[in-house]
Amino acid sequence: MATIYLDHSATTPVDPEVLDAMLPYYRGQYGNASSIHQAGRAARQAIDEAREQVAIAIGAAPEEIYFVSGGTEADNLALRGYVEQSGNTRNGSHIITSKIEHHAVLHTAAKLARQGKPVTYCGVDGDGVIDLGELADGIRDDTVLISVMLANNEVGTIEPLREIREIIGDRRIALHTDAVQALGEMDINVDELGVDMMSLSAHKVYGPKGIGALYVRKGTRFSAQIVGGGHERNKRAGTENVPGIAGFGKACELILRDGCENRARVAALRDRLVAGILERVEDAHYNGHPENRIPKNASLCFRGCEGEALLLHLDFMGICASSGSACTSQSLEPSHVLAAMGVPIEIAHGVLRLTLGKDSTQQEIDTAIDAVAEVVAKIRRISAAIEI
Ligand code: PLP
Repeated sequence: MATIYLDHSATTPVDPEVLDAMLPYYRGQYGNASSIHQAGRAARQAIDEAREQVAIAIGAAPEEIYFVSGGTEADNLALRGYVEQSGNTRNGSHIITSKIEHHAVLHTAAKLARQGKPVTYCGVDGDGVIDLGELADGIRDDTVLISVMLANNEVGTIEPLREIREIIGDRRIALHTDAVQALGEMDINVDELGVDMMSLSAHKVYGPKGIGALYVRKGTRFSAQIVGGGHERNKRAGTENVPGIAGFGKACELILRDGCENRARVAALRDRLVAGILERVEDAHYNGHPENRIPKNASLCFRGCEGEALLLHLDFMGICASSGSACTSQSLEPSHVLAAMGVPIEIAHGVLRLTLGKDSTQQEIDTAIDAVAEVVAKIRRISAAIEI
């Protein structure tokens, strides 16, 4: 039985071209980029090239890109690094974020709150769009940072970052966005969005795991959170993961080359998947914004089904899916995102996230529609029998 992988928001396969770009730095060119000899210089050059490739993908300058170990570290560095730095120069330390952020932001914000930095969590509407009125009202004299994700990892909704920038106006408040799920799924330009910091991760865009980047606008000051050597211009110590960085750079180059075409194809397949499921399954709800959403995401809830049961049955049929974020799919807690969107708990428990990739095929999608319809019917039959 061939596996149908519909969990591209959890992670993606490494593109063969990306792997080819990485292999030289595991084999012949294994130098440490800090070494002055030729092996070191080759590694340094690979990092410089990748920094440029990542920068181009988001409309930034290379010197605004800091390589880190992934999206989680980028979020930690943005929040902790910025708040720590602003604590040195300003009185304020108030942060505003949304209730639907990834735990990399939410848990970092909670930790800062325990350290005495006040945090305001803004709500969202039923489509998962941040309440801009609440955000505007939440701004205080001591607000230093607003962190709102560009695209939600569970329901795919794209957040109105440009409008948030307009609300901030010329106040001295930095705007950070977690763009881990948005990269590759939409055109991204840091100037058009008006963001000061942006978190990125390679393994969501056909790059390797364990590498990511934080974009920091020139002039925005932040404190290193991992200290040691002078790597990444003293902002992130540790010998650089040269193969990973080279792979991330290549993955970004491929986004610019193939991204538009892939997105259009994936969006059409996603729409086919959602329409097929909604047609075949009664009492199913499509989560997230109907239009302003990333192409790969289809999040659905099925009343009377347990998300875990859905996943296990689908897995048995060779379909890899998720109940929300990969990090919470082990827990029976209802998703904080669906809760913030006001989805009733009994419906939120039956959530299924199917996320498509550039290699997904129409045949896979049609098989998935059949499988979901069959599994939901089966689980509902079993639940009805138990209730009797
Ligand atoms: N932010 C978002 C929105 C994510 O979806 C993820 C991963 O699922 C992360 C951050 C964490 O990224 P990484 O796995 O590279 O640490």
